[in-house]
Amino acid sequence: MDYEQMLAKAQKELPESVSSGERFQVEKVSGHLEGNKTIISNLKKISDRCGRPPEHLLKYLQRELASPAKFDGERTIFGTKIASEFINKKVKQYISEFVLCPSCGKPDTKLLLTEDVQYLKCDVCGNKVPVKRIR
Ligand SMILES: [Zn+2]
Repeated sequence: MDYEQMLAKAQKELPESVSSGERFQVEKVSGHLEGNKTIISNLKKISDRCGRPPEHLLKYLQRELASPAKFDGERTIFGTKIASEFINKKVKQYISEFVLCPSCGKPDTKLLLTEDVQYLKCDVCGNKVPVKRIR
């Protein structure tokens, strides 16, 4: 068996790491600084994982981090220098506020928008709670 085959075999034998009962996890933001800007390469992936539009997460981060931000293709550009631990902390906060059901803790939720209230509705237990809107 050559090295490539060994690698493929080892990957196949890895245990299934994500079981449904586990805590919802997203990958950490990966990024770097460019001058006075912070470039994040995987924010869209993270919002996908959360089942939320990227613009929603971006708006939230812009406000929470008090920094202008925009998408540039797959990249996200923040107009200031921000430590990635700080962004990760805010992403976690976003998830607990806008993704996880406060009743059962599952991430299978939807955001429902009515005229003036936004709700977080859980597909698993049916719980529905108002959440603040991000403008
Ligand atoms: Zn629930």
